[in-house]
Amino acid sequence: MSFEPAMPYAPGLSEIPVRGLSINDVHDSVRRVVSGPLPSAKPPDVHIAFENLQKHYSGRKGTVIALRDVSFNVERGEIFGIIGRSGAGKSTLLRAINMLESPSAGRVRVDDIDVGSLNEDALVALRRRIGMIFQHFNLLSAKTVRENVGLPLRVAGVKPKITHERVDALLELVGLRDKADAYPAKLSGGQKQRVGIARALVHDPEILLCDEATSALDPETTQSILDLLRDINRKLGLTIVLITHDMSVIREICHKVLVLDGGQVVERGEVWEVFGNPQADATRALLRPLLHDLPQDLADRLVADLRGHPGEAILKVRFPGNGLPGGVPFAALAALGQGANLLHGGLDRLRGHAQGNLLISVPAQDWNEVQARKTLPAAHVEVLGYVHADT
Ligand code: ADP
Repeated sequence: MSFEPAMPYAPGLSEIPVRGLSINDVHDSVRRVVSGPLPSAKPPDVHIAFENLQKHYSGRKGTVIALRDVSFNVERGEIFGIIGRSGAGKSTLLRAINMLESPSAGRVRVDDIDVGSLNEDALVALRRRIGMIFQHFNLLSAKTVRENVGLPLRVAGVKPKITHERVDALLELVGLRDKADAYPAKLSGGQKQRVGIARALVHDPEILLCDEATSALDPETTQSILDLLRDINRKLGLTIVLITHDMSVIREICHKVLVLDGGQVVERGEVWEVFGNPQADATRALLRPLLHDLPQDLADRLVADLRGHPGEAILKVRFPGNGLPGGVPFAALAALGQGANLLHGGLDRLRGHAQGNLLISVPAQDWNEVQARKTLPAAHVEVLGYVHADT
């Protein structure tokens, strides 16, 4: 079998559609739950399909099951995040796409071709269509930036002039034109990862795999690398599959997310849906740093019942992101009354969906009245407890 030449270098921007919903208040918005995908004119364009994938490792301590019956699709042009705790099976899953790991059972198909059925030549061709970047960059220290990026072309026997032009174009794309003759030791972590990205793009791939690509970088550099990946996804139309243990990376650039736990898929969907209403324990645990949970000082003062003493009810109001393109209406919160206080929390905006948690206190004597007014959607309000007025 043979592979088609890689896709054109710059096919134009592929903007992500934004949901457009109009609502007036929180209550209304939650009643009119909009959770499913909007009808799409085009059928899904499956780029990578995982079919009942299993992976067992046998060792001295017995058999480790790294992947258990994993099935899902990645569509062309999307940024797909795979998240899970350490040992969940993320690397094994990612490496099955380009057959760096061969599955014990099941299949991975790229453009409907079973990658496990390829002979060595076809596998080389496949790997040219699939670029990969790594946490520790994997650059050759004795070679310059230009040589590192151009190496895969040299190995493939591409003419020096073409290699030179291609490398220049890629260094321009990743913002490293002026570092072409520098050695890796002289580069910052972010610059090294840019070299890694340029090298991964050298064969004009249509898929880019990112293995914890920002895990060794500080937050500011992480942001700039994520911006670059987003830019590459839009400009080149690349399908990007990334694995990370960092939920903020997923929130920042992914369209879809899959959560692995113990080698199994425990949750997957659009990022705003999964983050707005996480179902699996593993997802909740991973999301905890982003969830604005009860701060310790309040937790220490919380009681289950005021027993007739004055105090306040502590409410957690969850905005799961079903709709709310206009944000959370202030009026709905203000209607809680003059005695209410906003204590803690935060809202994020993910693909046009405002979502997050707010902790609010309401004088306890007003609480029944607040409930009766149905100011907030009951399904999304939880009374965490009460605090005494004098604590
Ligand atoms: P993650 O990337 O989520 O940290 P991995 O895919 O690296 O998880 O590993 C999944 C499981 O498979 C872990 O229990 C790990 O110890 C085991 N594993 C991974 N690679 C090997 C290997 N080459 N030999 C034996 N066990 C392995």
